[in-house]
Amino acid sequence: MSTYDLIVIGAGPGGYVCAIRAAQLGLKVACVEGRETLGGTCLNVGCIPSKALLHASHMLHESHENFAKMGLMNAHVDVDWSQMQSYKAETVGTNTKGIEFLFKKNKIDWIKGWAEIEGAGKVKVGDTTYETRNIVIATGSEPSALKGVEVDNAGGVVVDSTGALVLPNIPKSMVVIGAGVIGLELGSVYARLGAEVTVVEFLDFITPGMDGEVQKQFQKILTKQGLKFVLGAAVSGVTTDNGTAKVTYKLRKDDSEHVIDADCVLVATGRRPYVAGLGLDKLGVEMTERGFVKVNDHWQTSVKGIYAIGDAVPGPMLAHKAEDEGMAVAEVVAGKHGHVNYNVIPGVIYTTPEVASVGLTEEAAKDSGRKIKVGKFPFMGNARAKALFQADGFVKMIVDAETDRVLGCHIIGPNAGEMIHEVCVAMEFGAAAEDIALTCHAHPTCSEAVREAALACGSGAIHV
Ligand SMILES: Cc1cc2nc3c(=O)[nH]c(=O)nc-3n(C[C@H](O)[C@H](O)[C@H](O)COP(=O)(O)OP(=O)(O)OC[C@H]3O[C@@H](n4cnc5c(N)ncnc54)[C@H](O)[C@@H]3O)c2cc1C
Repeated sequence: MSTYDLIVIGAGPGGYVCAIRAAQLGLKVACVEGRETLGGTCLNVGCIPSKALLHASHMLHESHENFAKMGLMNAHVDVDWSQMQSYKAETVGTNTKGIEFLFKKNKIDWIKGWAEIEGAGKVKVGDTTYETRNIVIATGSEPSALKGVEVDNAGGVVVDSTGALVLPNIPKSMVVIGAGVIGLELGSVYARLGAEVTVVEFLDFITPGMDGEVQKQFQKILTKQGLKFVLGAAVSGVTTDNGTAKVTYKLRKDDSEHVIDADCVLVATGRRPYVAGLGLDKLGVEMTERGFVKVNDHWQTSVKGIYAIGDAVPGPMLAHKAEDEGMAVAEVVAGKHGHVNYNVIPGVIYTTPEVASVGLTEEAAKDSGRKIKVGKFPFMGNARAKALFQADGFVKMIVDAETDRVLGCHIIGPNAGEMIHEVCVAMEFGAAAEDIALTCHAHPTCSEAVREAALACGSGAIHV
């Protein structure tokens, strides 16, 4: 058997992108994947199926809430849950097949099975040991467990995000434990489909890590959409009986105990790195306290020739962060200079409206000791957003007061996940808010609000 230049373990967005880039750079590459299909968490049970359900349920919401306002009458749209599941499965299927096609096109060997690293340069899958000059660990993550709560995805009552994507039917009531991105996206899906959704969160605010003003406005908007929030609440246990659940929690402010009944409980308390079965202990690969693989600036682990990327290493657990690291580490392995700018990694929540952010929050910018300016523009002043019934949000830009350089941007609004990228490009180029303010933006677009926020950092926005 010939020796590979690179074996990538895991075919998620980190692993498959790494394999493709390495093959494009002329390396002989194999990728090991334990799942039946390529694409990892993202394509199979993460980004893609959740976005399919968000899209379908958004359409339903539009037909119920907004069609008549636009003169589109009598749209009695019913939900065919099994057809919605088929649409989701087809979306996933075409995408995972797409990766298969790209592997063939780039002559990447797909080794099917679970990999163990026997030593630097040796990857065992089943009974076969493959030789390779370099190994990239891209084994991703799995849902975190919550003490006192047993997840049973097959049962469909107490589920994690994977189970929530394939519920046997739409529950009448759902408790979401955890007000992070995944909980709020999937909570929104079921709220739009008619479930009474209560989100129970340990902290006193939702979406930890986001800009404070965004957190507040986002919670207001979701509350208006029918989601209920119980904040500052520690869930102590979940019991099930005959297809329903009881969630017990204590309010942190007064220690009082409460119980909510629900047809379904979604445990969405975060994700943890997944490295089981790789044999990293035996190899002496150093790990962080929180169980991530420790890497240096070139994604190299403590063992020469073994690299790690994506959700398995520290940093935001996002598909595009994993992809960027995948490309960069392929360059490093090929003897080039891979680079990821961790200051410019956008984060998006795909609810309606979307929430998107990049760079520093106002709080973090202030904490850094800089003098800052904040430019804010409400979508109420944006014609396009009003026509879309999504004018409740805003664009908030944070810039260095001395240099006018853009430090961060936070958007709640229609297509915020697309709009954020002009700010990402600006930040990559070290642009000033004035550069964005002086750039002509097409009218009528939601992106005009980004320009207005940039104008608000200087001589003032126009439409306020
Ligand atoms: C419901 C949900 C929604 C999400 N939505 C978004 C979103 O909208 N945007 C976003 O950026 N991120 C989103 N994420 C996060 C995103 O899915 C992850 O950040 C991303 O998939 C991480 O990529 P990765 O390549 O590091 O790992 P993964 O995608 O987890 O892939 C790792 C792969 O490695 C395989 N593997 C593990 N161990 C072995 C082994 N020993 N041998 C062989 N194969 C192995 C696994 O089977 C898996 O397929 C979402 C996640 C979830 C759960």
